[in-house]
Formats: sequence, structure tokens, C-alpha cells
Amino acid sequence: MRLVTLGPPGAGKGTQTDRLAEHYQIKHISTGDMLREEMRNNTPIGREITGIMNAGQLVPDEVVNSMVSALIRGMAKDEGFVFDGFPRNVKQAEFLDNLLSKEPEVSRIKRVIYITAPDEVILARMAGRRVCPHCGSVFHVEHHPPKVDGSCDSCHNALVQREDDKESTVLNRLKIYRTQTEPVIDYYSKKDLLVVVSGVADIKMTTRKLIDILGE
Ligand code: AMP
Repeated sequence: MRLVTLGPPGAGKGTQTDRLAEHYQIKHISTGDMLREEMRNNTPIGREITGIMNAGQLVPDEVVNSMVSALIRGMAKDEGFVFDGFPRNVKQAEFLDNLLSKEPEVSRIKRVIYITAPDEVILARMAGRRVCPHCGSVFHVEHHPPKVDGSCDSCHNALVQREDDKESTVLNRLKIYRTQTEPVIDYYSKKDLLVVVSGVADIKMTTRKLIDILGE
């Protein structure tokens, strides 16, 4: 099964994507994680995108599209995945469509899950989010605190706030989301692929609802 999740930053895309990937045993593809890895490894792409990422702007389509295309081409035609953070604008959605349009039915996007959340929830979630720069584990100071304050449960490295989770940057990311990513919702709605769920509802019940819609 091949899926896409959409929604504002902090709506809970990562959480639902993880849970669906686990349930269906499909790959969780986060373009944000792929780009952060380029930065961690200090590759030429990583160096090119650091300023853009830290400012909360979108990385150029060519960079993201070529990473996604290489990944999909390396997969079996029936291998499932769920995208988290891609496509981020209509051009990327069209690129994905073109990439899969000549493929068999099983390779196409089956559903697009749109996770909604109000701005005040998003701001509170992002302000409290802490990440491990070493292994990528994600915590929240209130809702999902680490066992030892400020230290990663998995690898015990010091947790940090992502540069792009700082409030002024989050506001900028929301603005970019409204202008560039929201039109993607309409794009998939016209194709009759959209499923809408609330990012503030109970996490387990939301996953259950999605599995009921998508099928076991
Ligand atoms: P995320 O982890 O999905 O919140 O993404 C973090 C940042 O990575 C975004 O603010 C962008 O700078 C960049 N990014 C992730 N996915 C994309 C994409 N599909 N297109 C452009 N930039 C992206």
C-alpha cells in the first residue's frame, strides 16, 4: 500500500505515519529526515540546504524530487510506503504523479491522509518538542518527556530544540504551509483520494479509524 500524509507542521503526521508503517509493514519516508541526514553528514546537498532548512523554508523541488525519485526507483513495484512531508507543493505532487503514472495500479498512491490541527495547538507542540541530534528520537517536554530530563532514552545524548521549531520559524513555516502546501489538499481532493482526520483526537483511535478506511 502506498500512502501520503499531509497537514501543517506539528499536526501529528510523523506519529500517524509511524503507526501506519508499523501496522502495514511499509516504509516510513520522511523527506525532512532525509534532508536532515544530508546536513548531519555534511554532504554537498547538506551544506546547500542548511540555511533554507533552519529558516523553515522549502528546499528546492529539484533536490527533493531527485531524492524521492531515486528512492522509489530502487523499490520493488509492490513495495509499500507512506510519505511524511512530501509532496509539499503542487509541483511536487505532479512530479509524484508523473513518476507513478506509468506504473501498475499497486504502485500508485492509494489514499492521502490529511491531518488537521489548529494553530495554537501547533505552536504549543513545536515549542515543547525536543529531538536527539544523534538518533533522531523525538520527545515533548510535557506530553512525551524523556526518562531523564534533557537526555535521549535510546542513546543518552543531550536533547536539543530543532532550529526550525523556534517560534518565529514555526510561524514562518505555517505561512509557507498555507500558501504552498494547502493547495495540495485541493489537488488530491479533486482526485478523490483524500481522507481527513483530526490531529487532536486520540492517537490510537485515529489510527484505528484510518485502518478501517484503508482496509486491514
Ligand atoms: P519536516 O521534518 O517534514 O517538518 O521538514 C523539515 C524541513 O525540511 C521543512 O521545513 C523544509 O525545509 C524541508 N523539507 C521537508 N520536506 C520537504 C519537501 N517535500 N519539499 C521541500 N522542503 C522540504
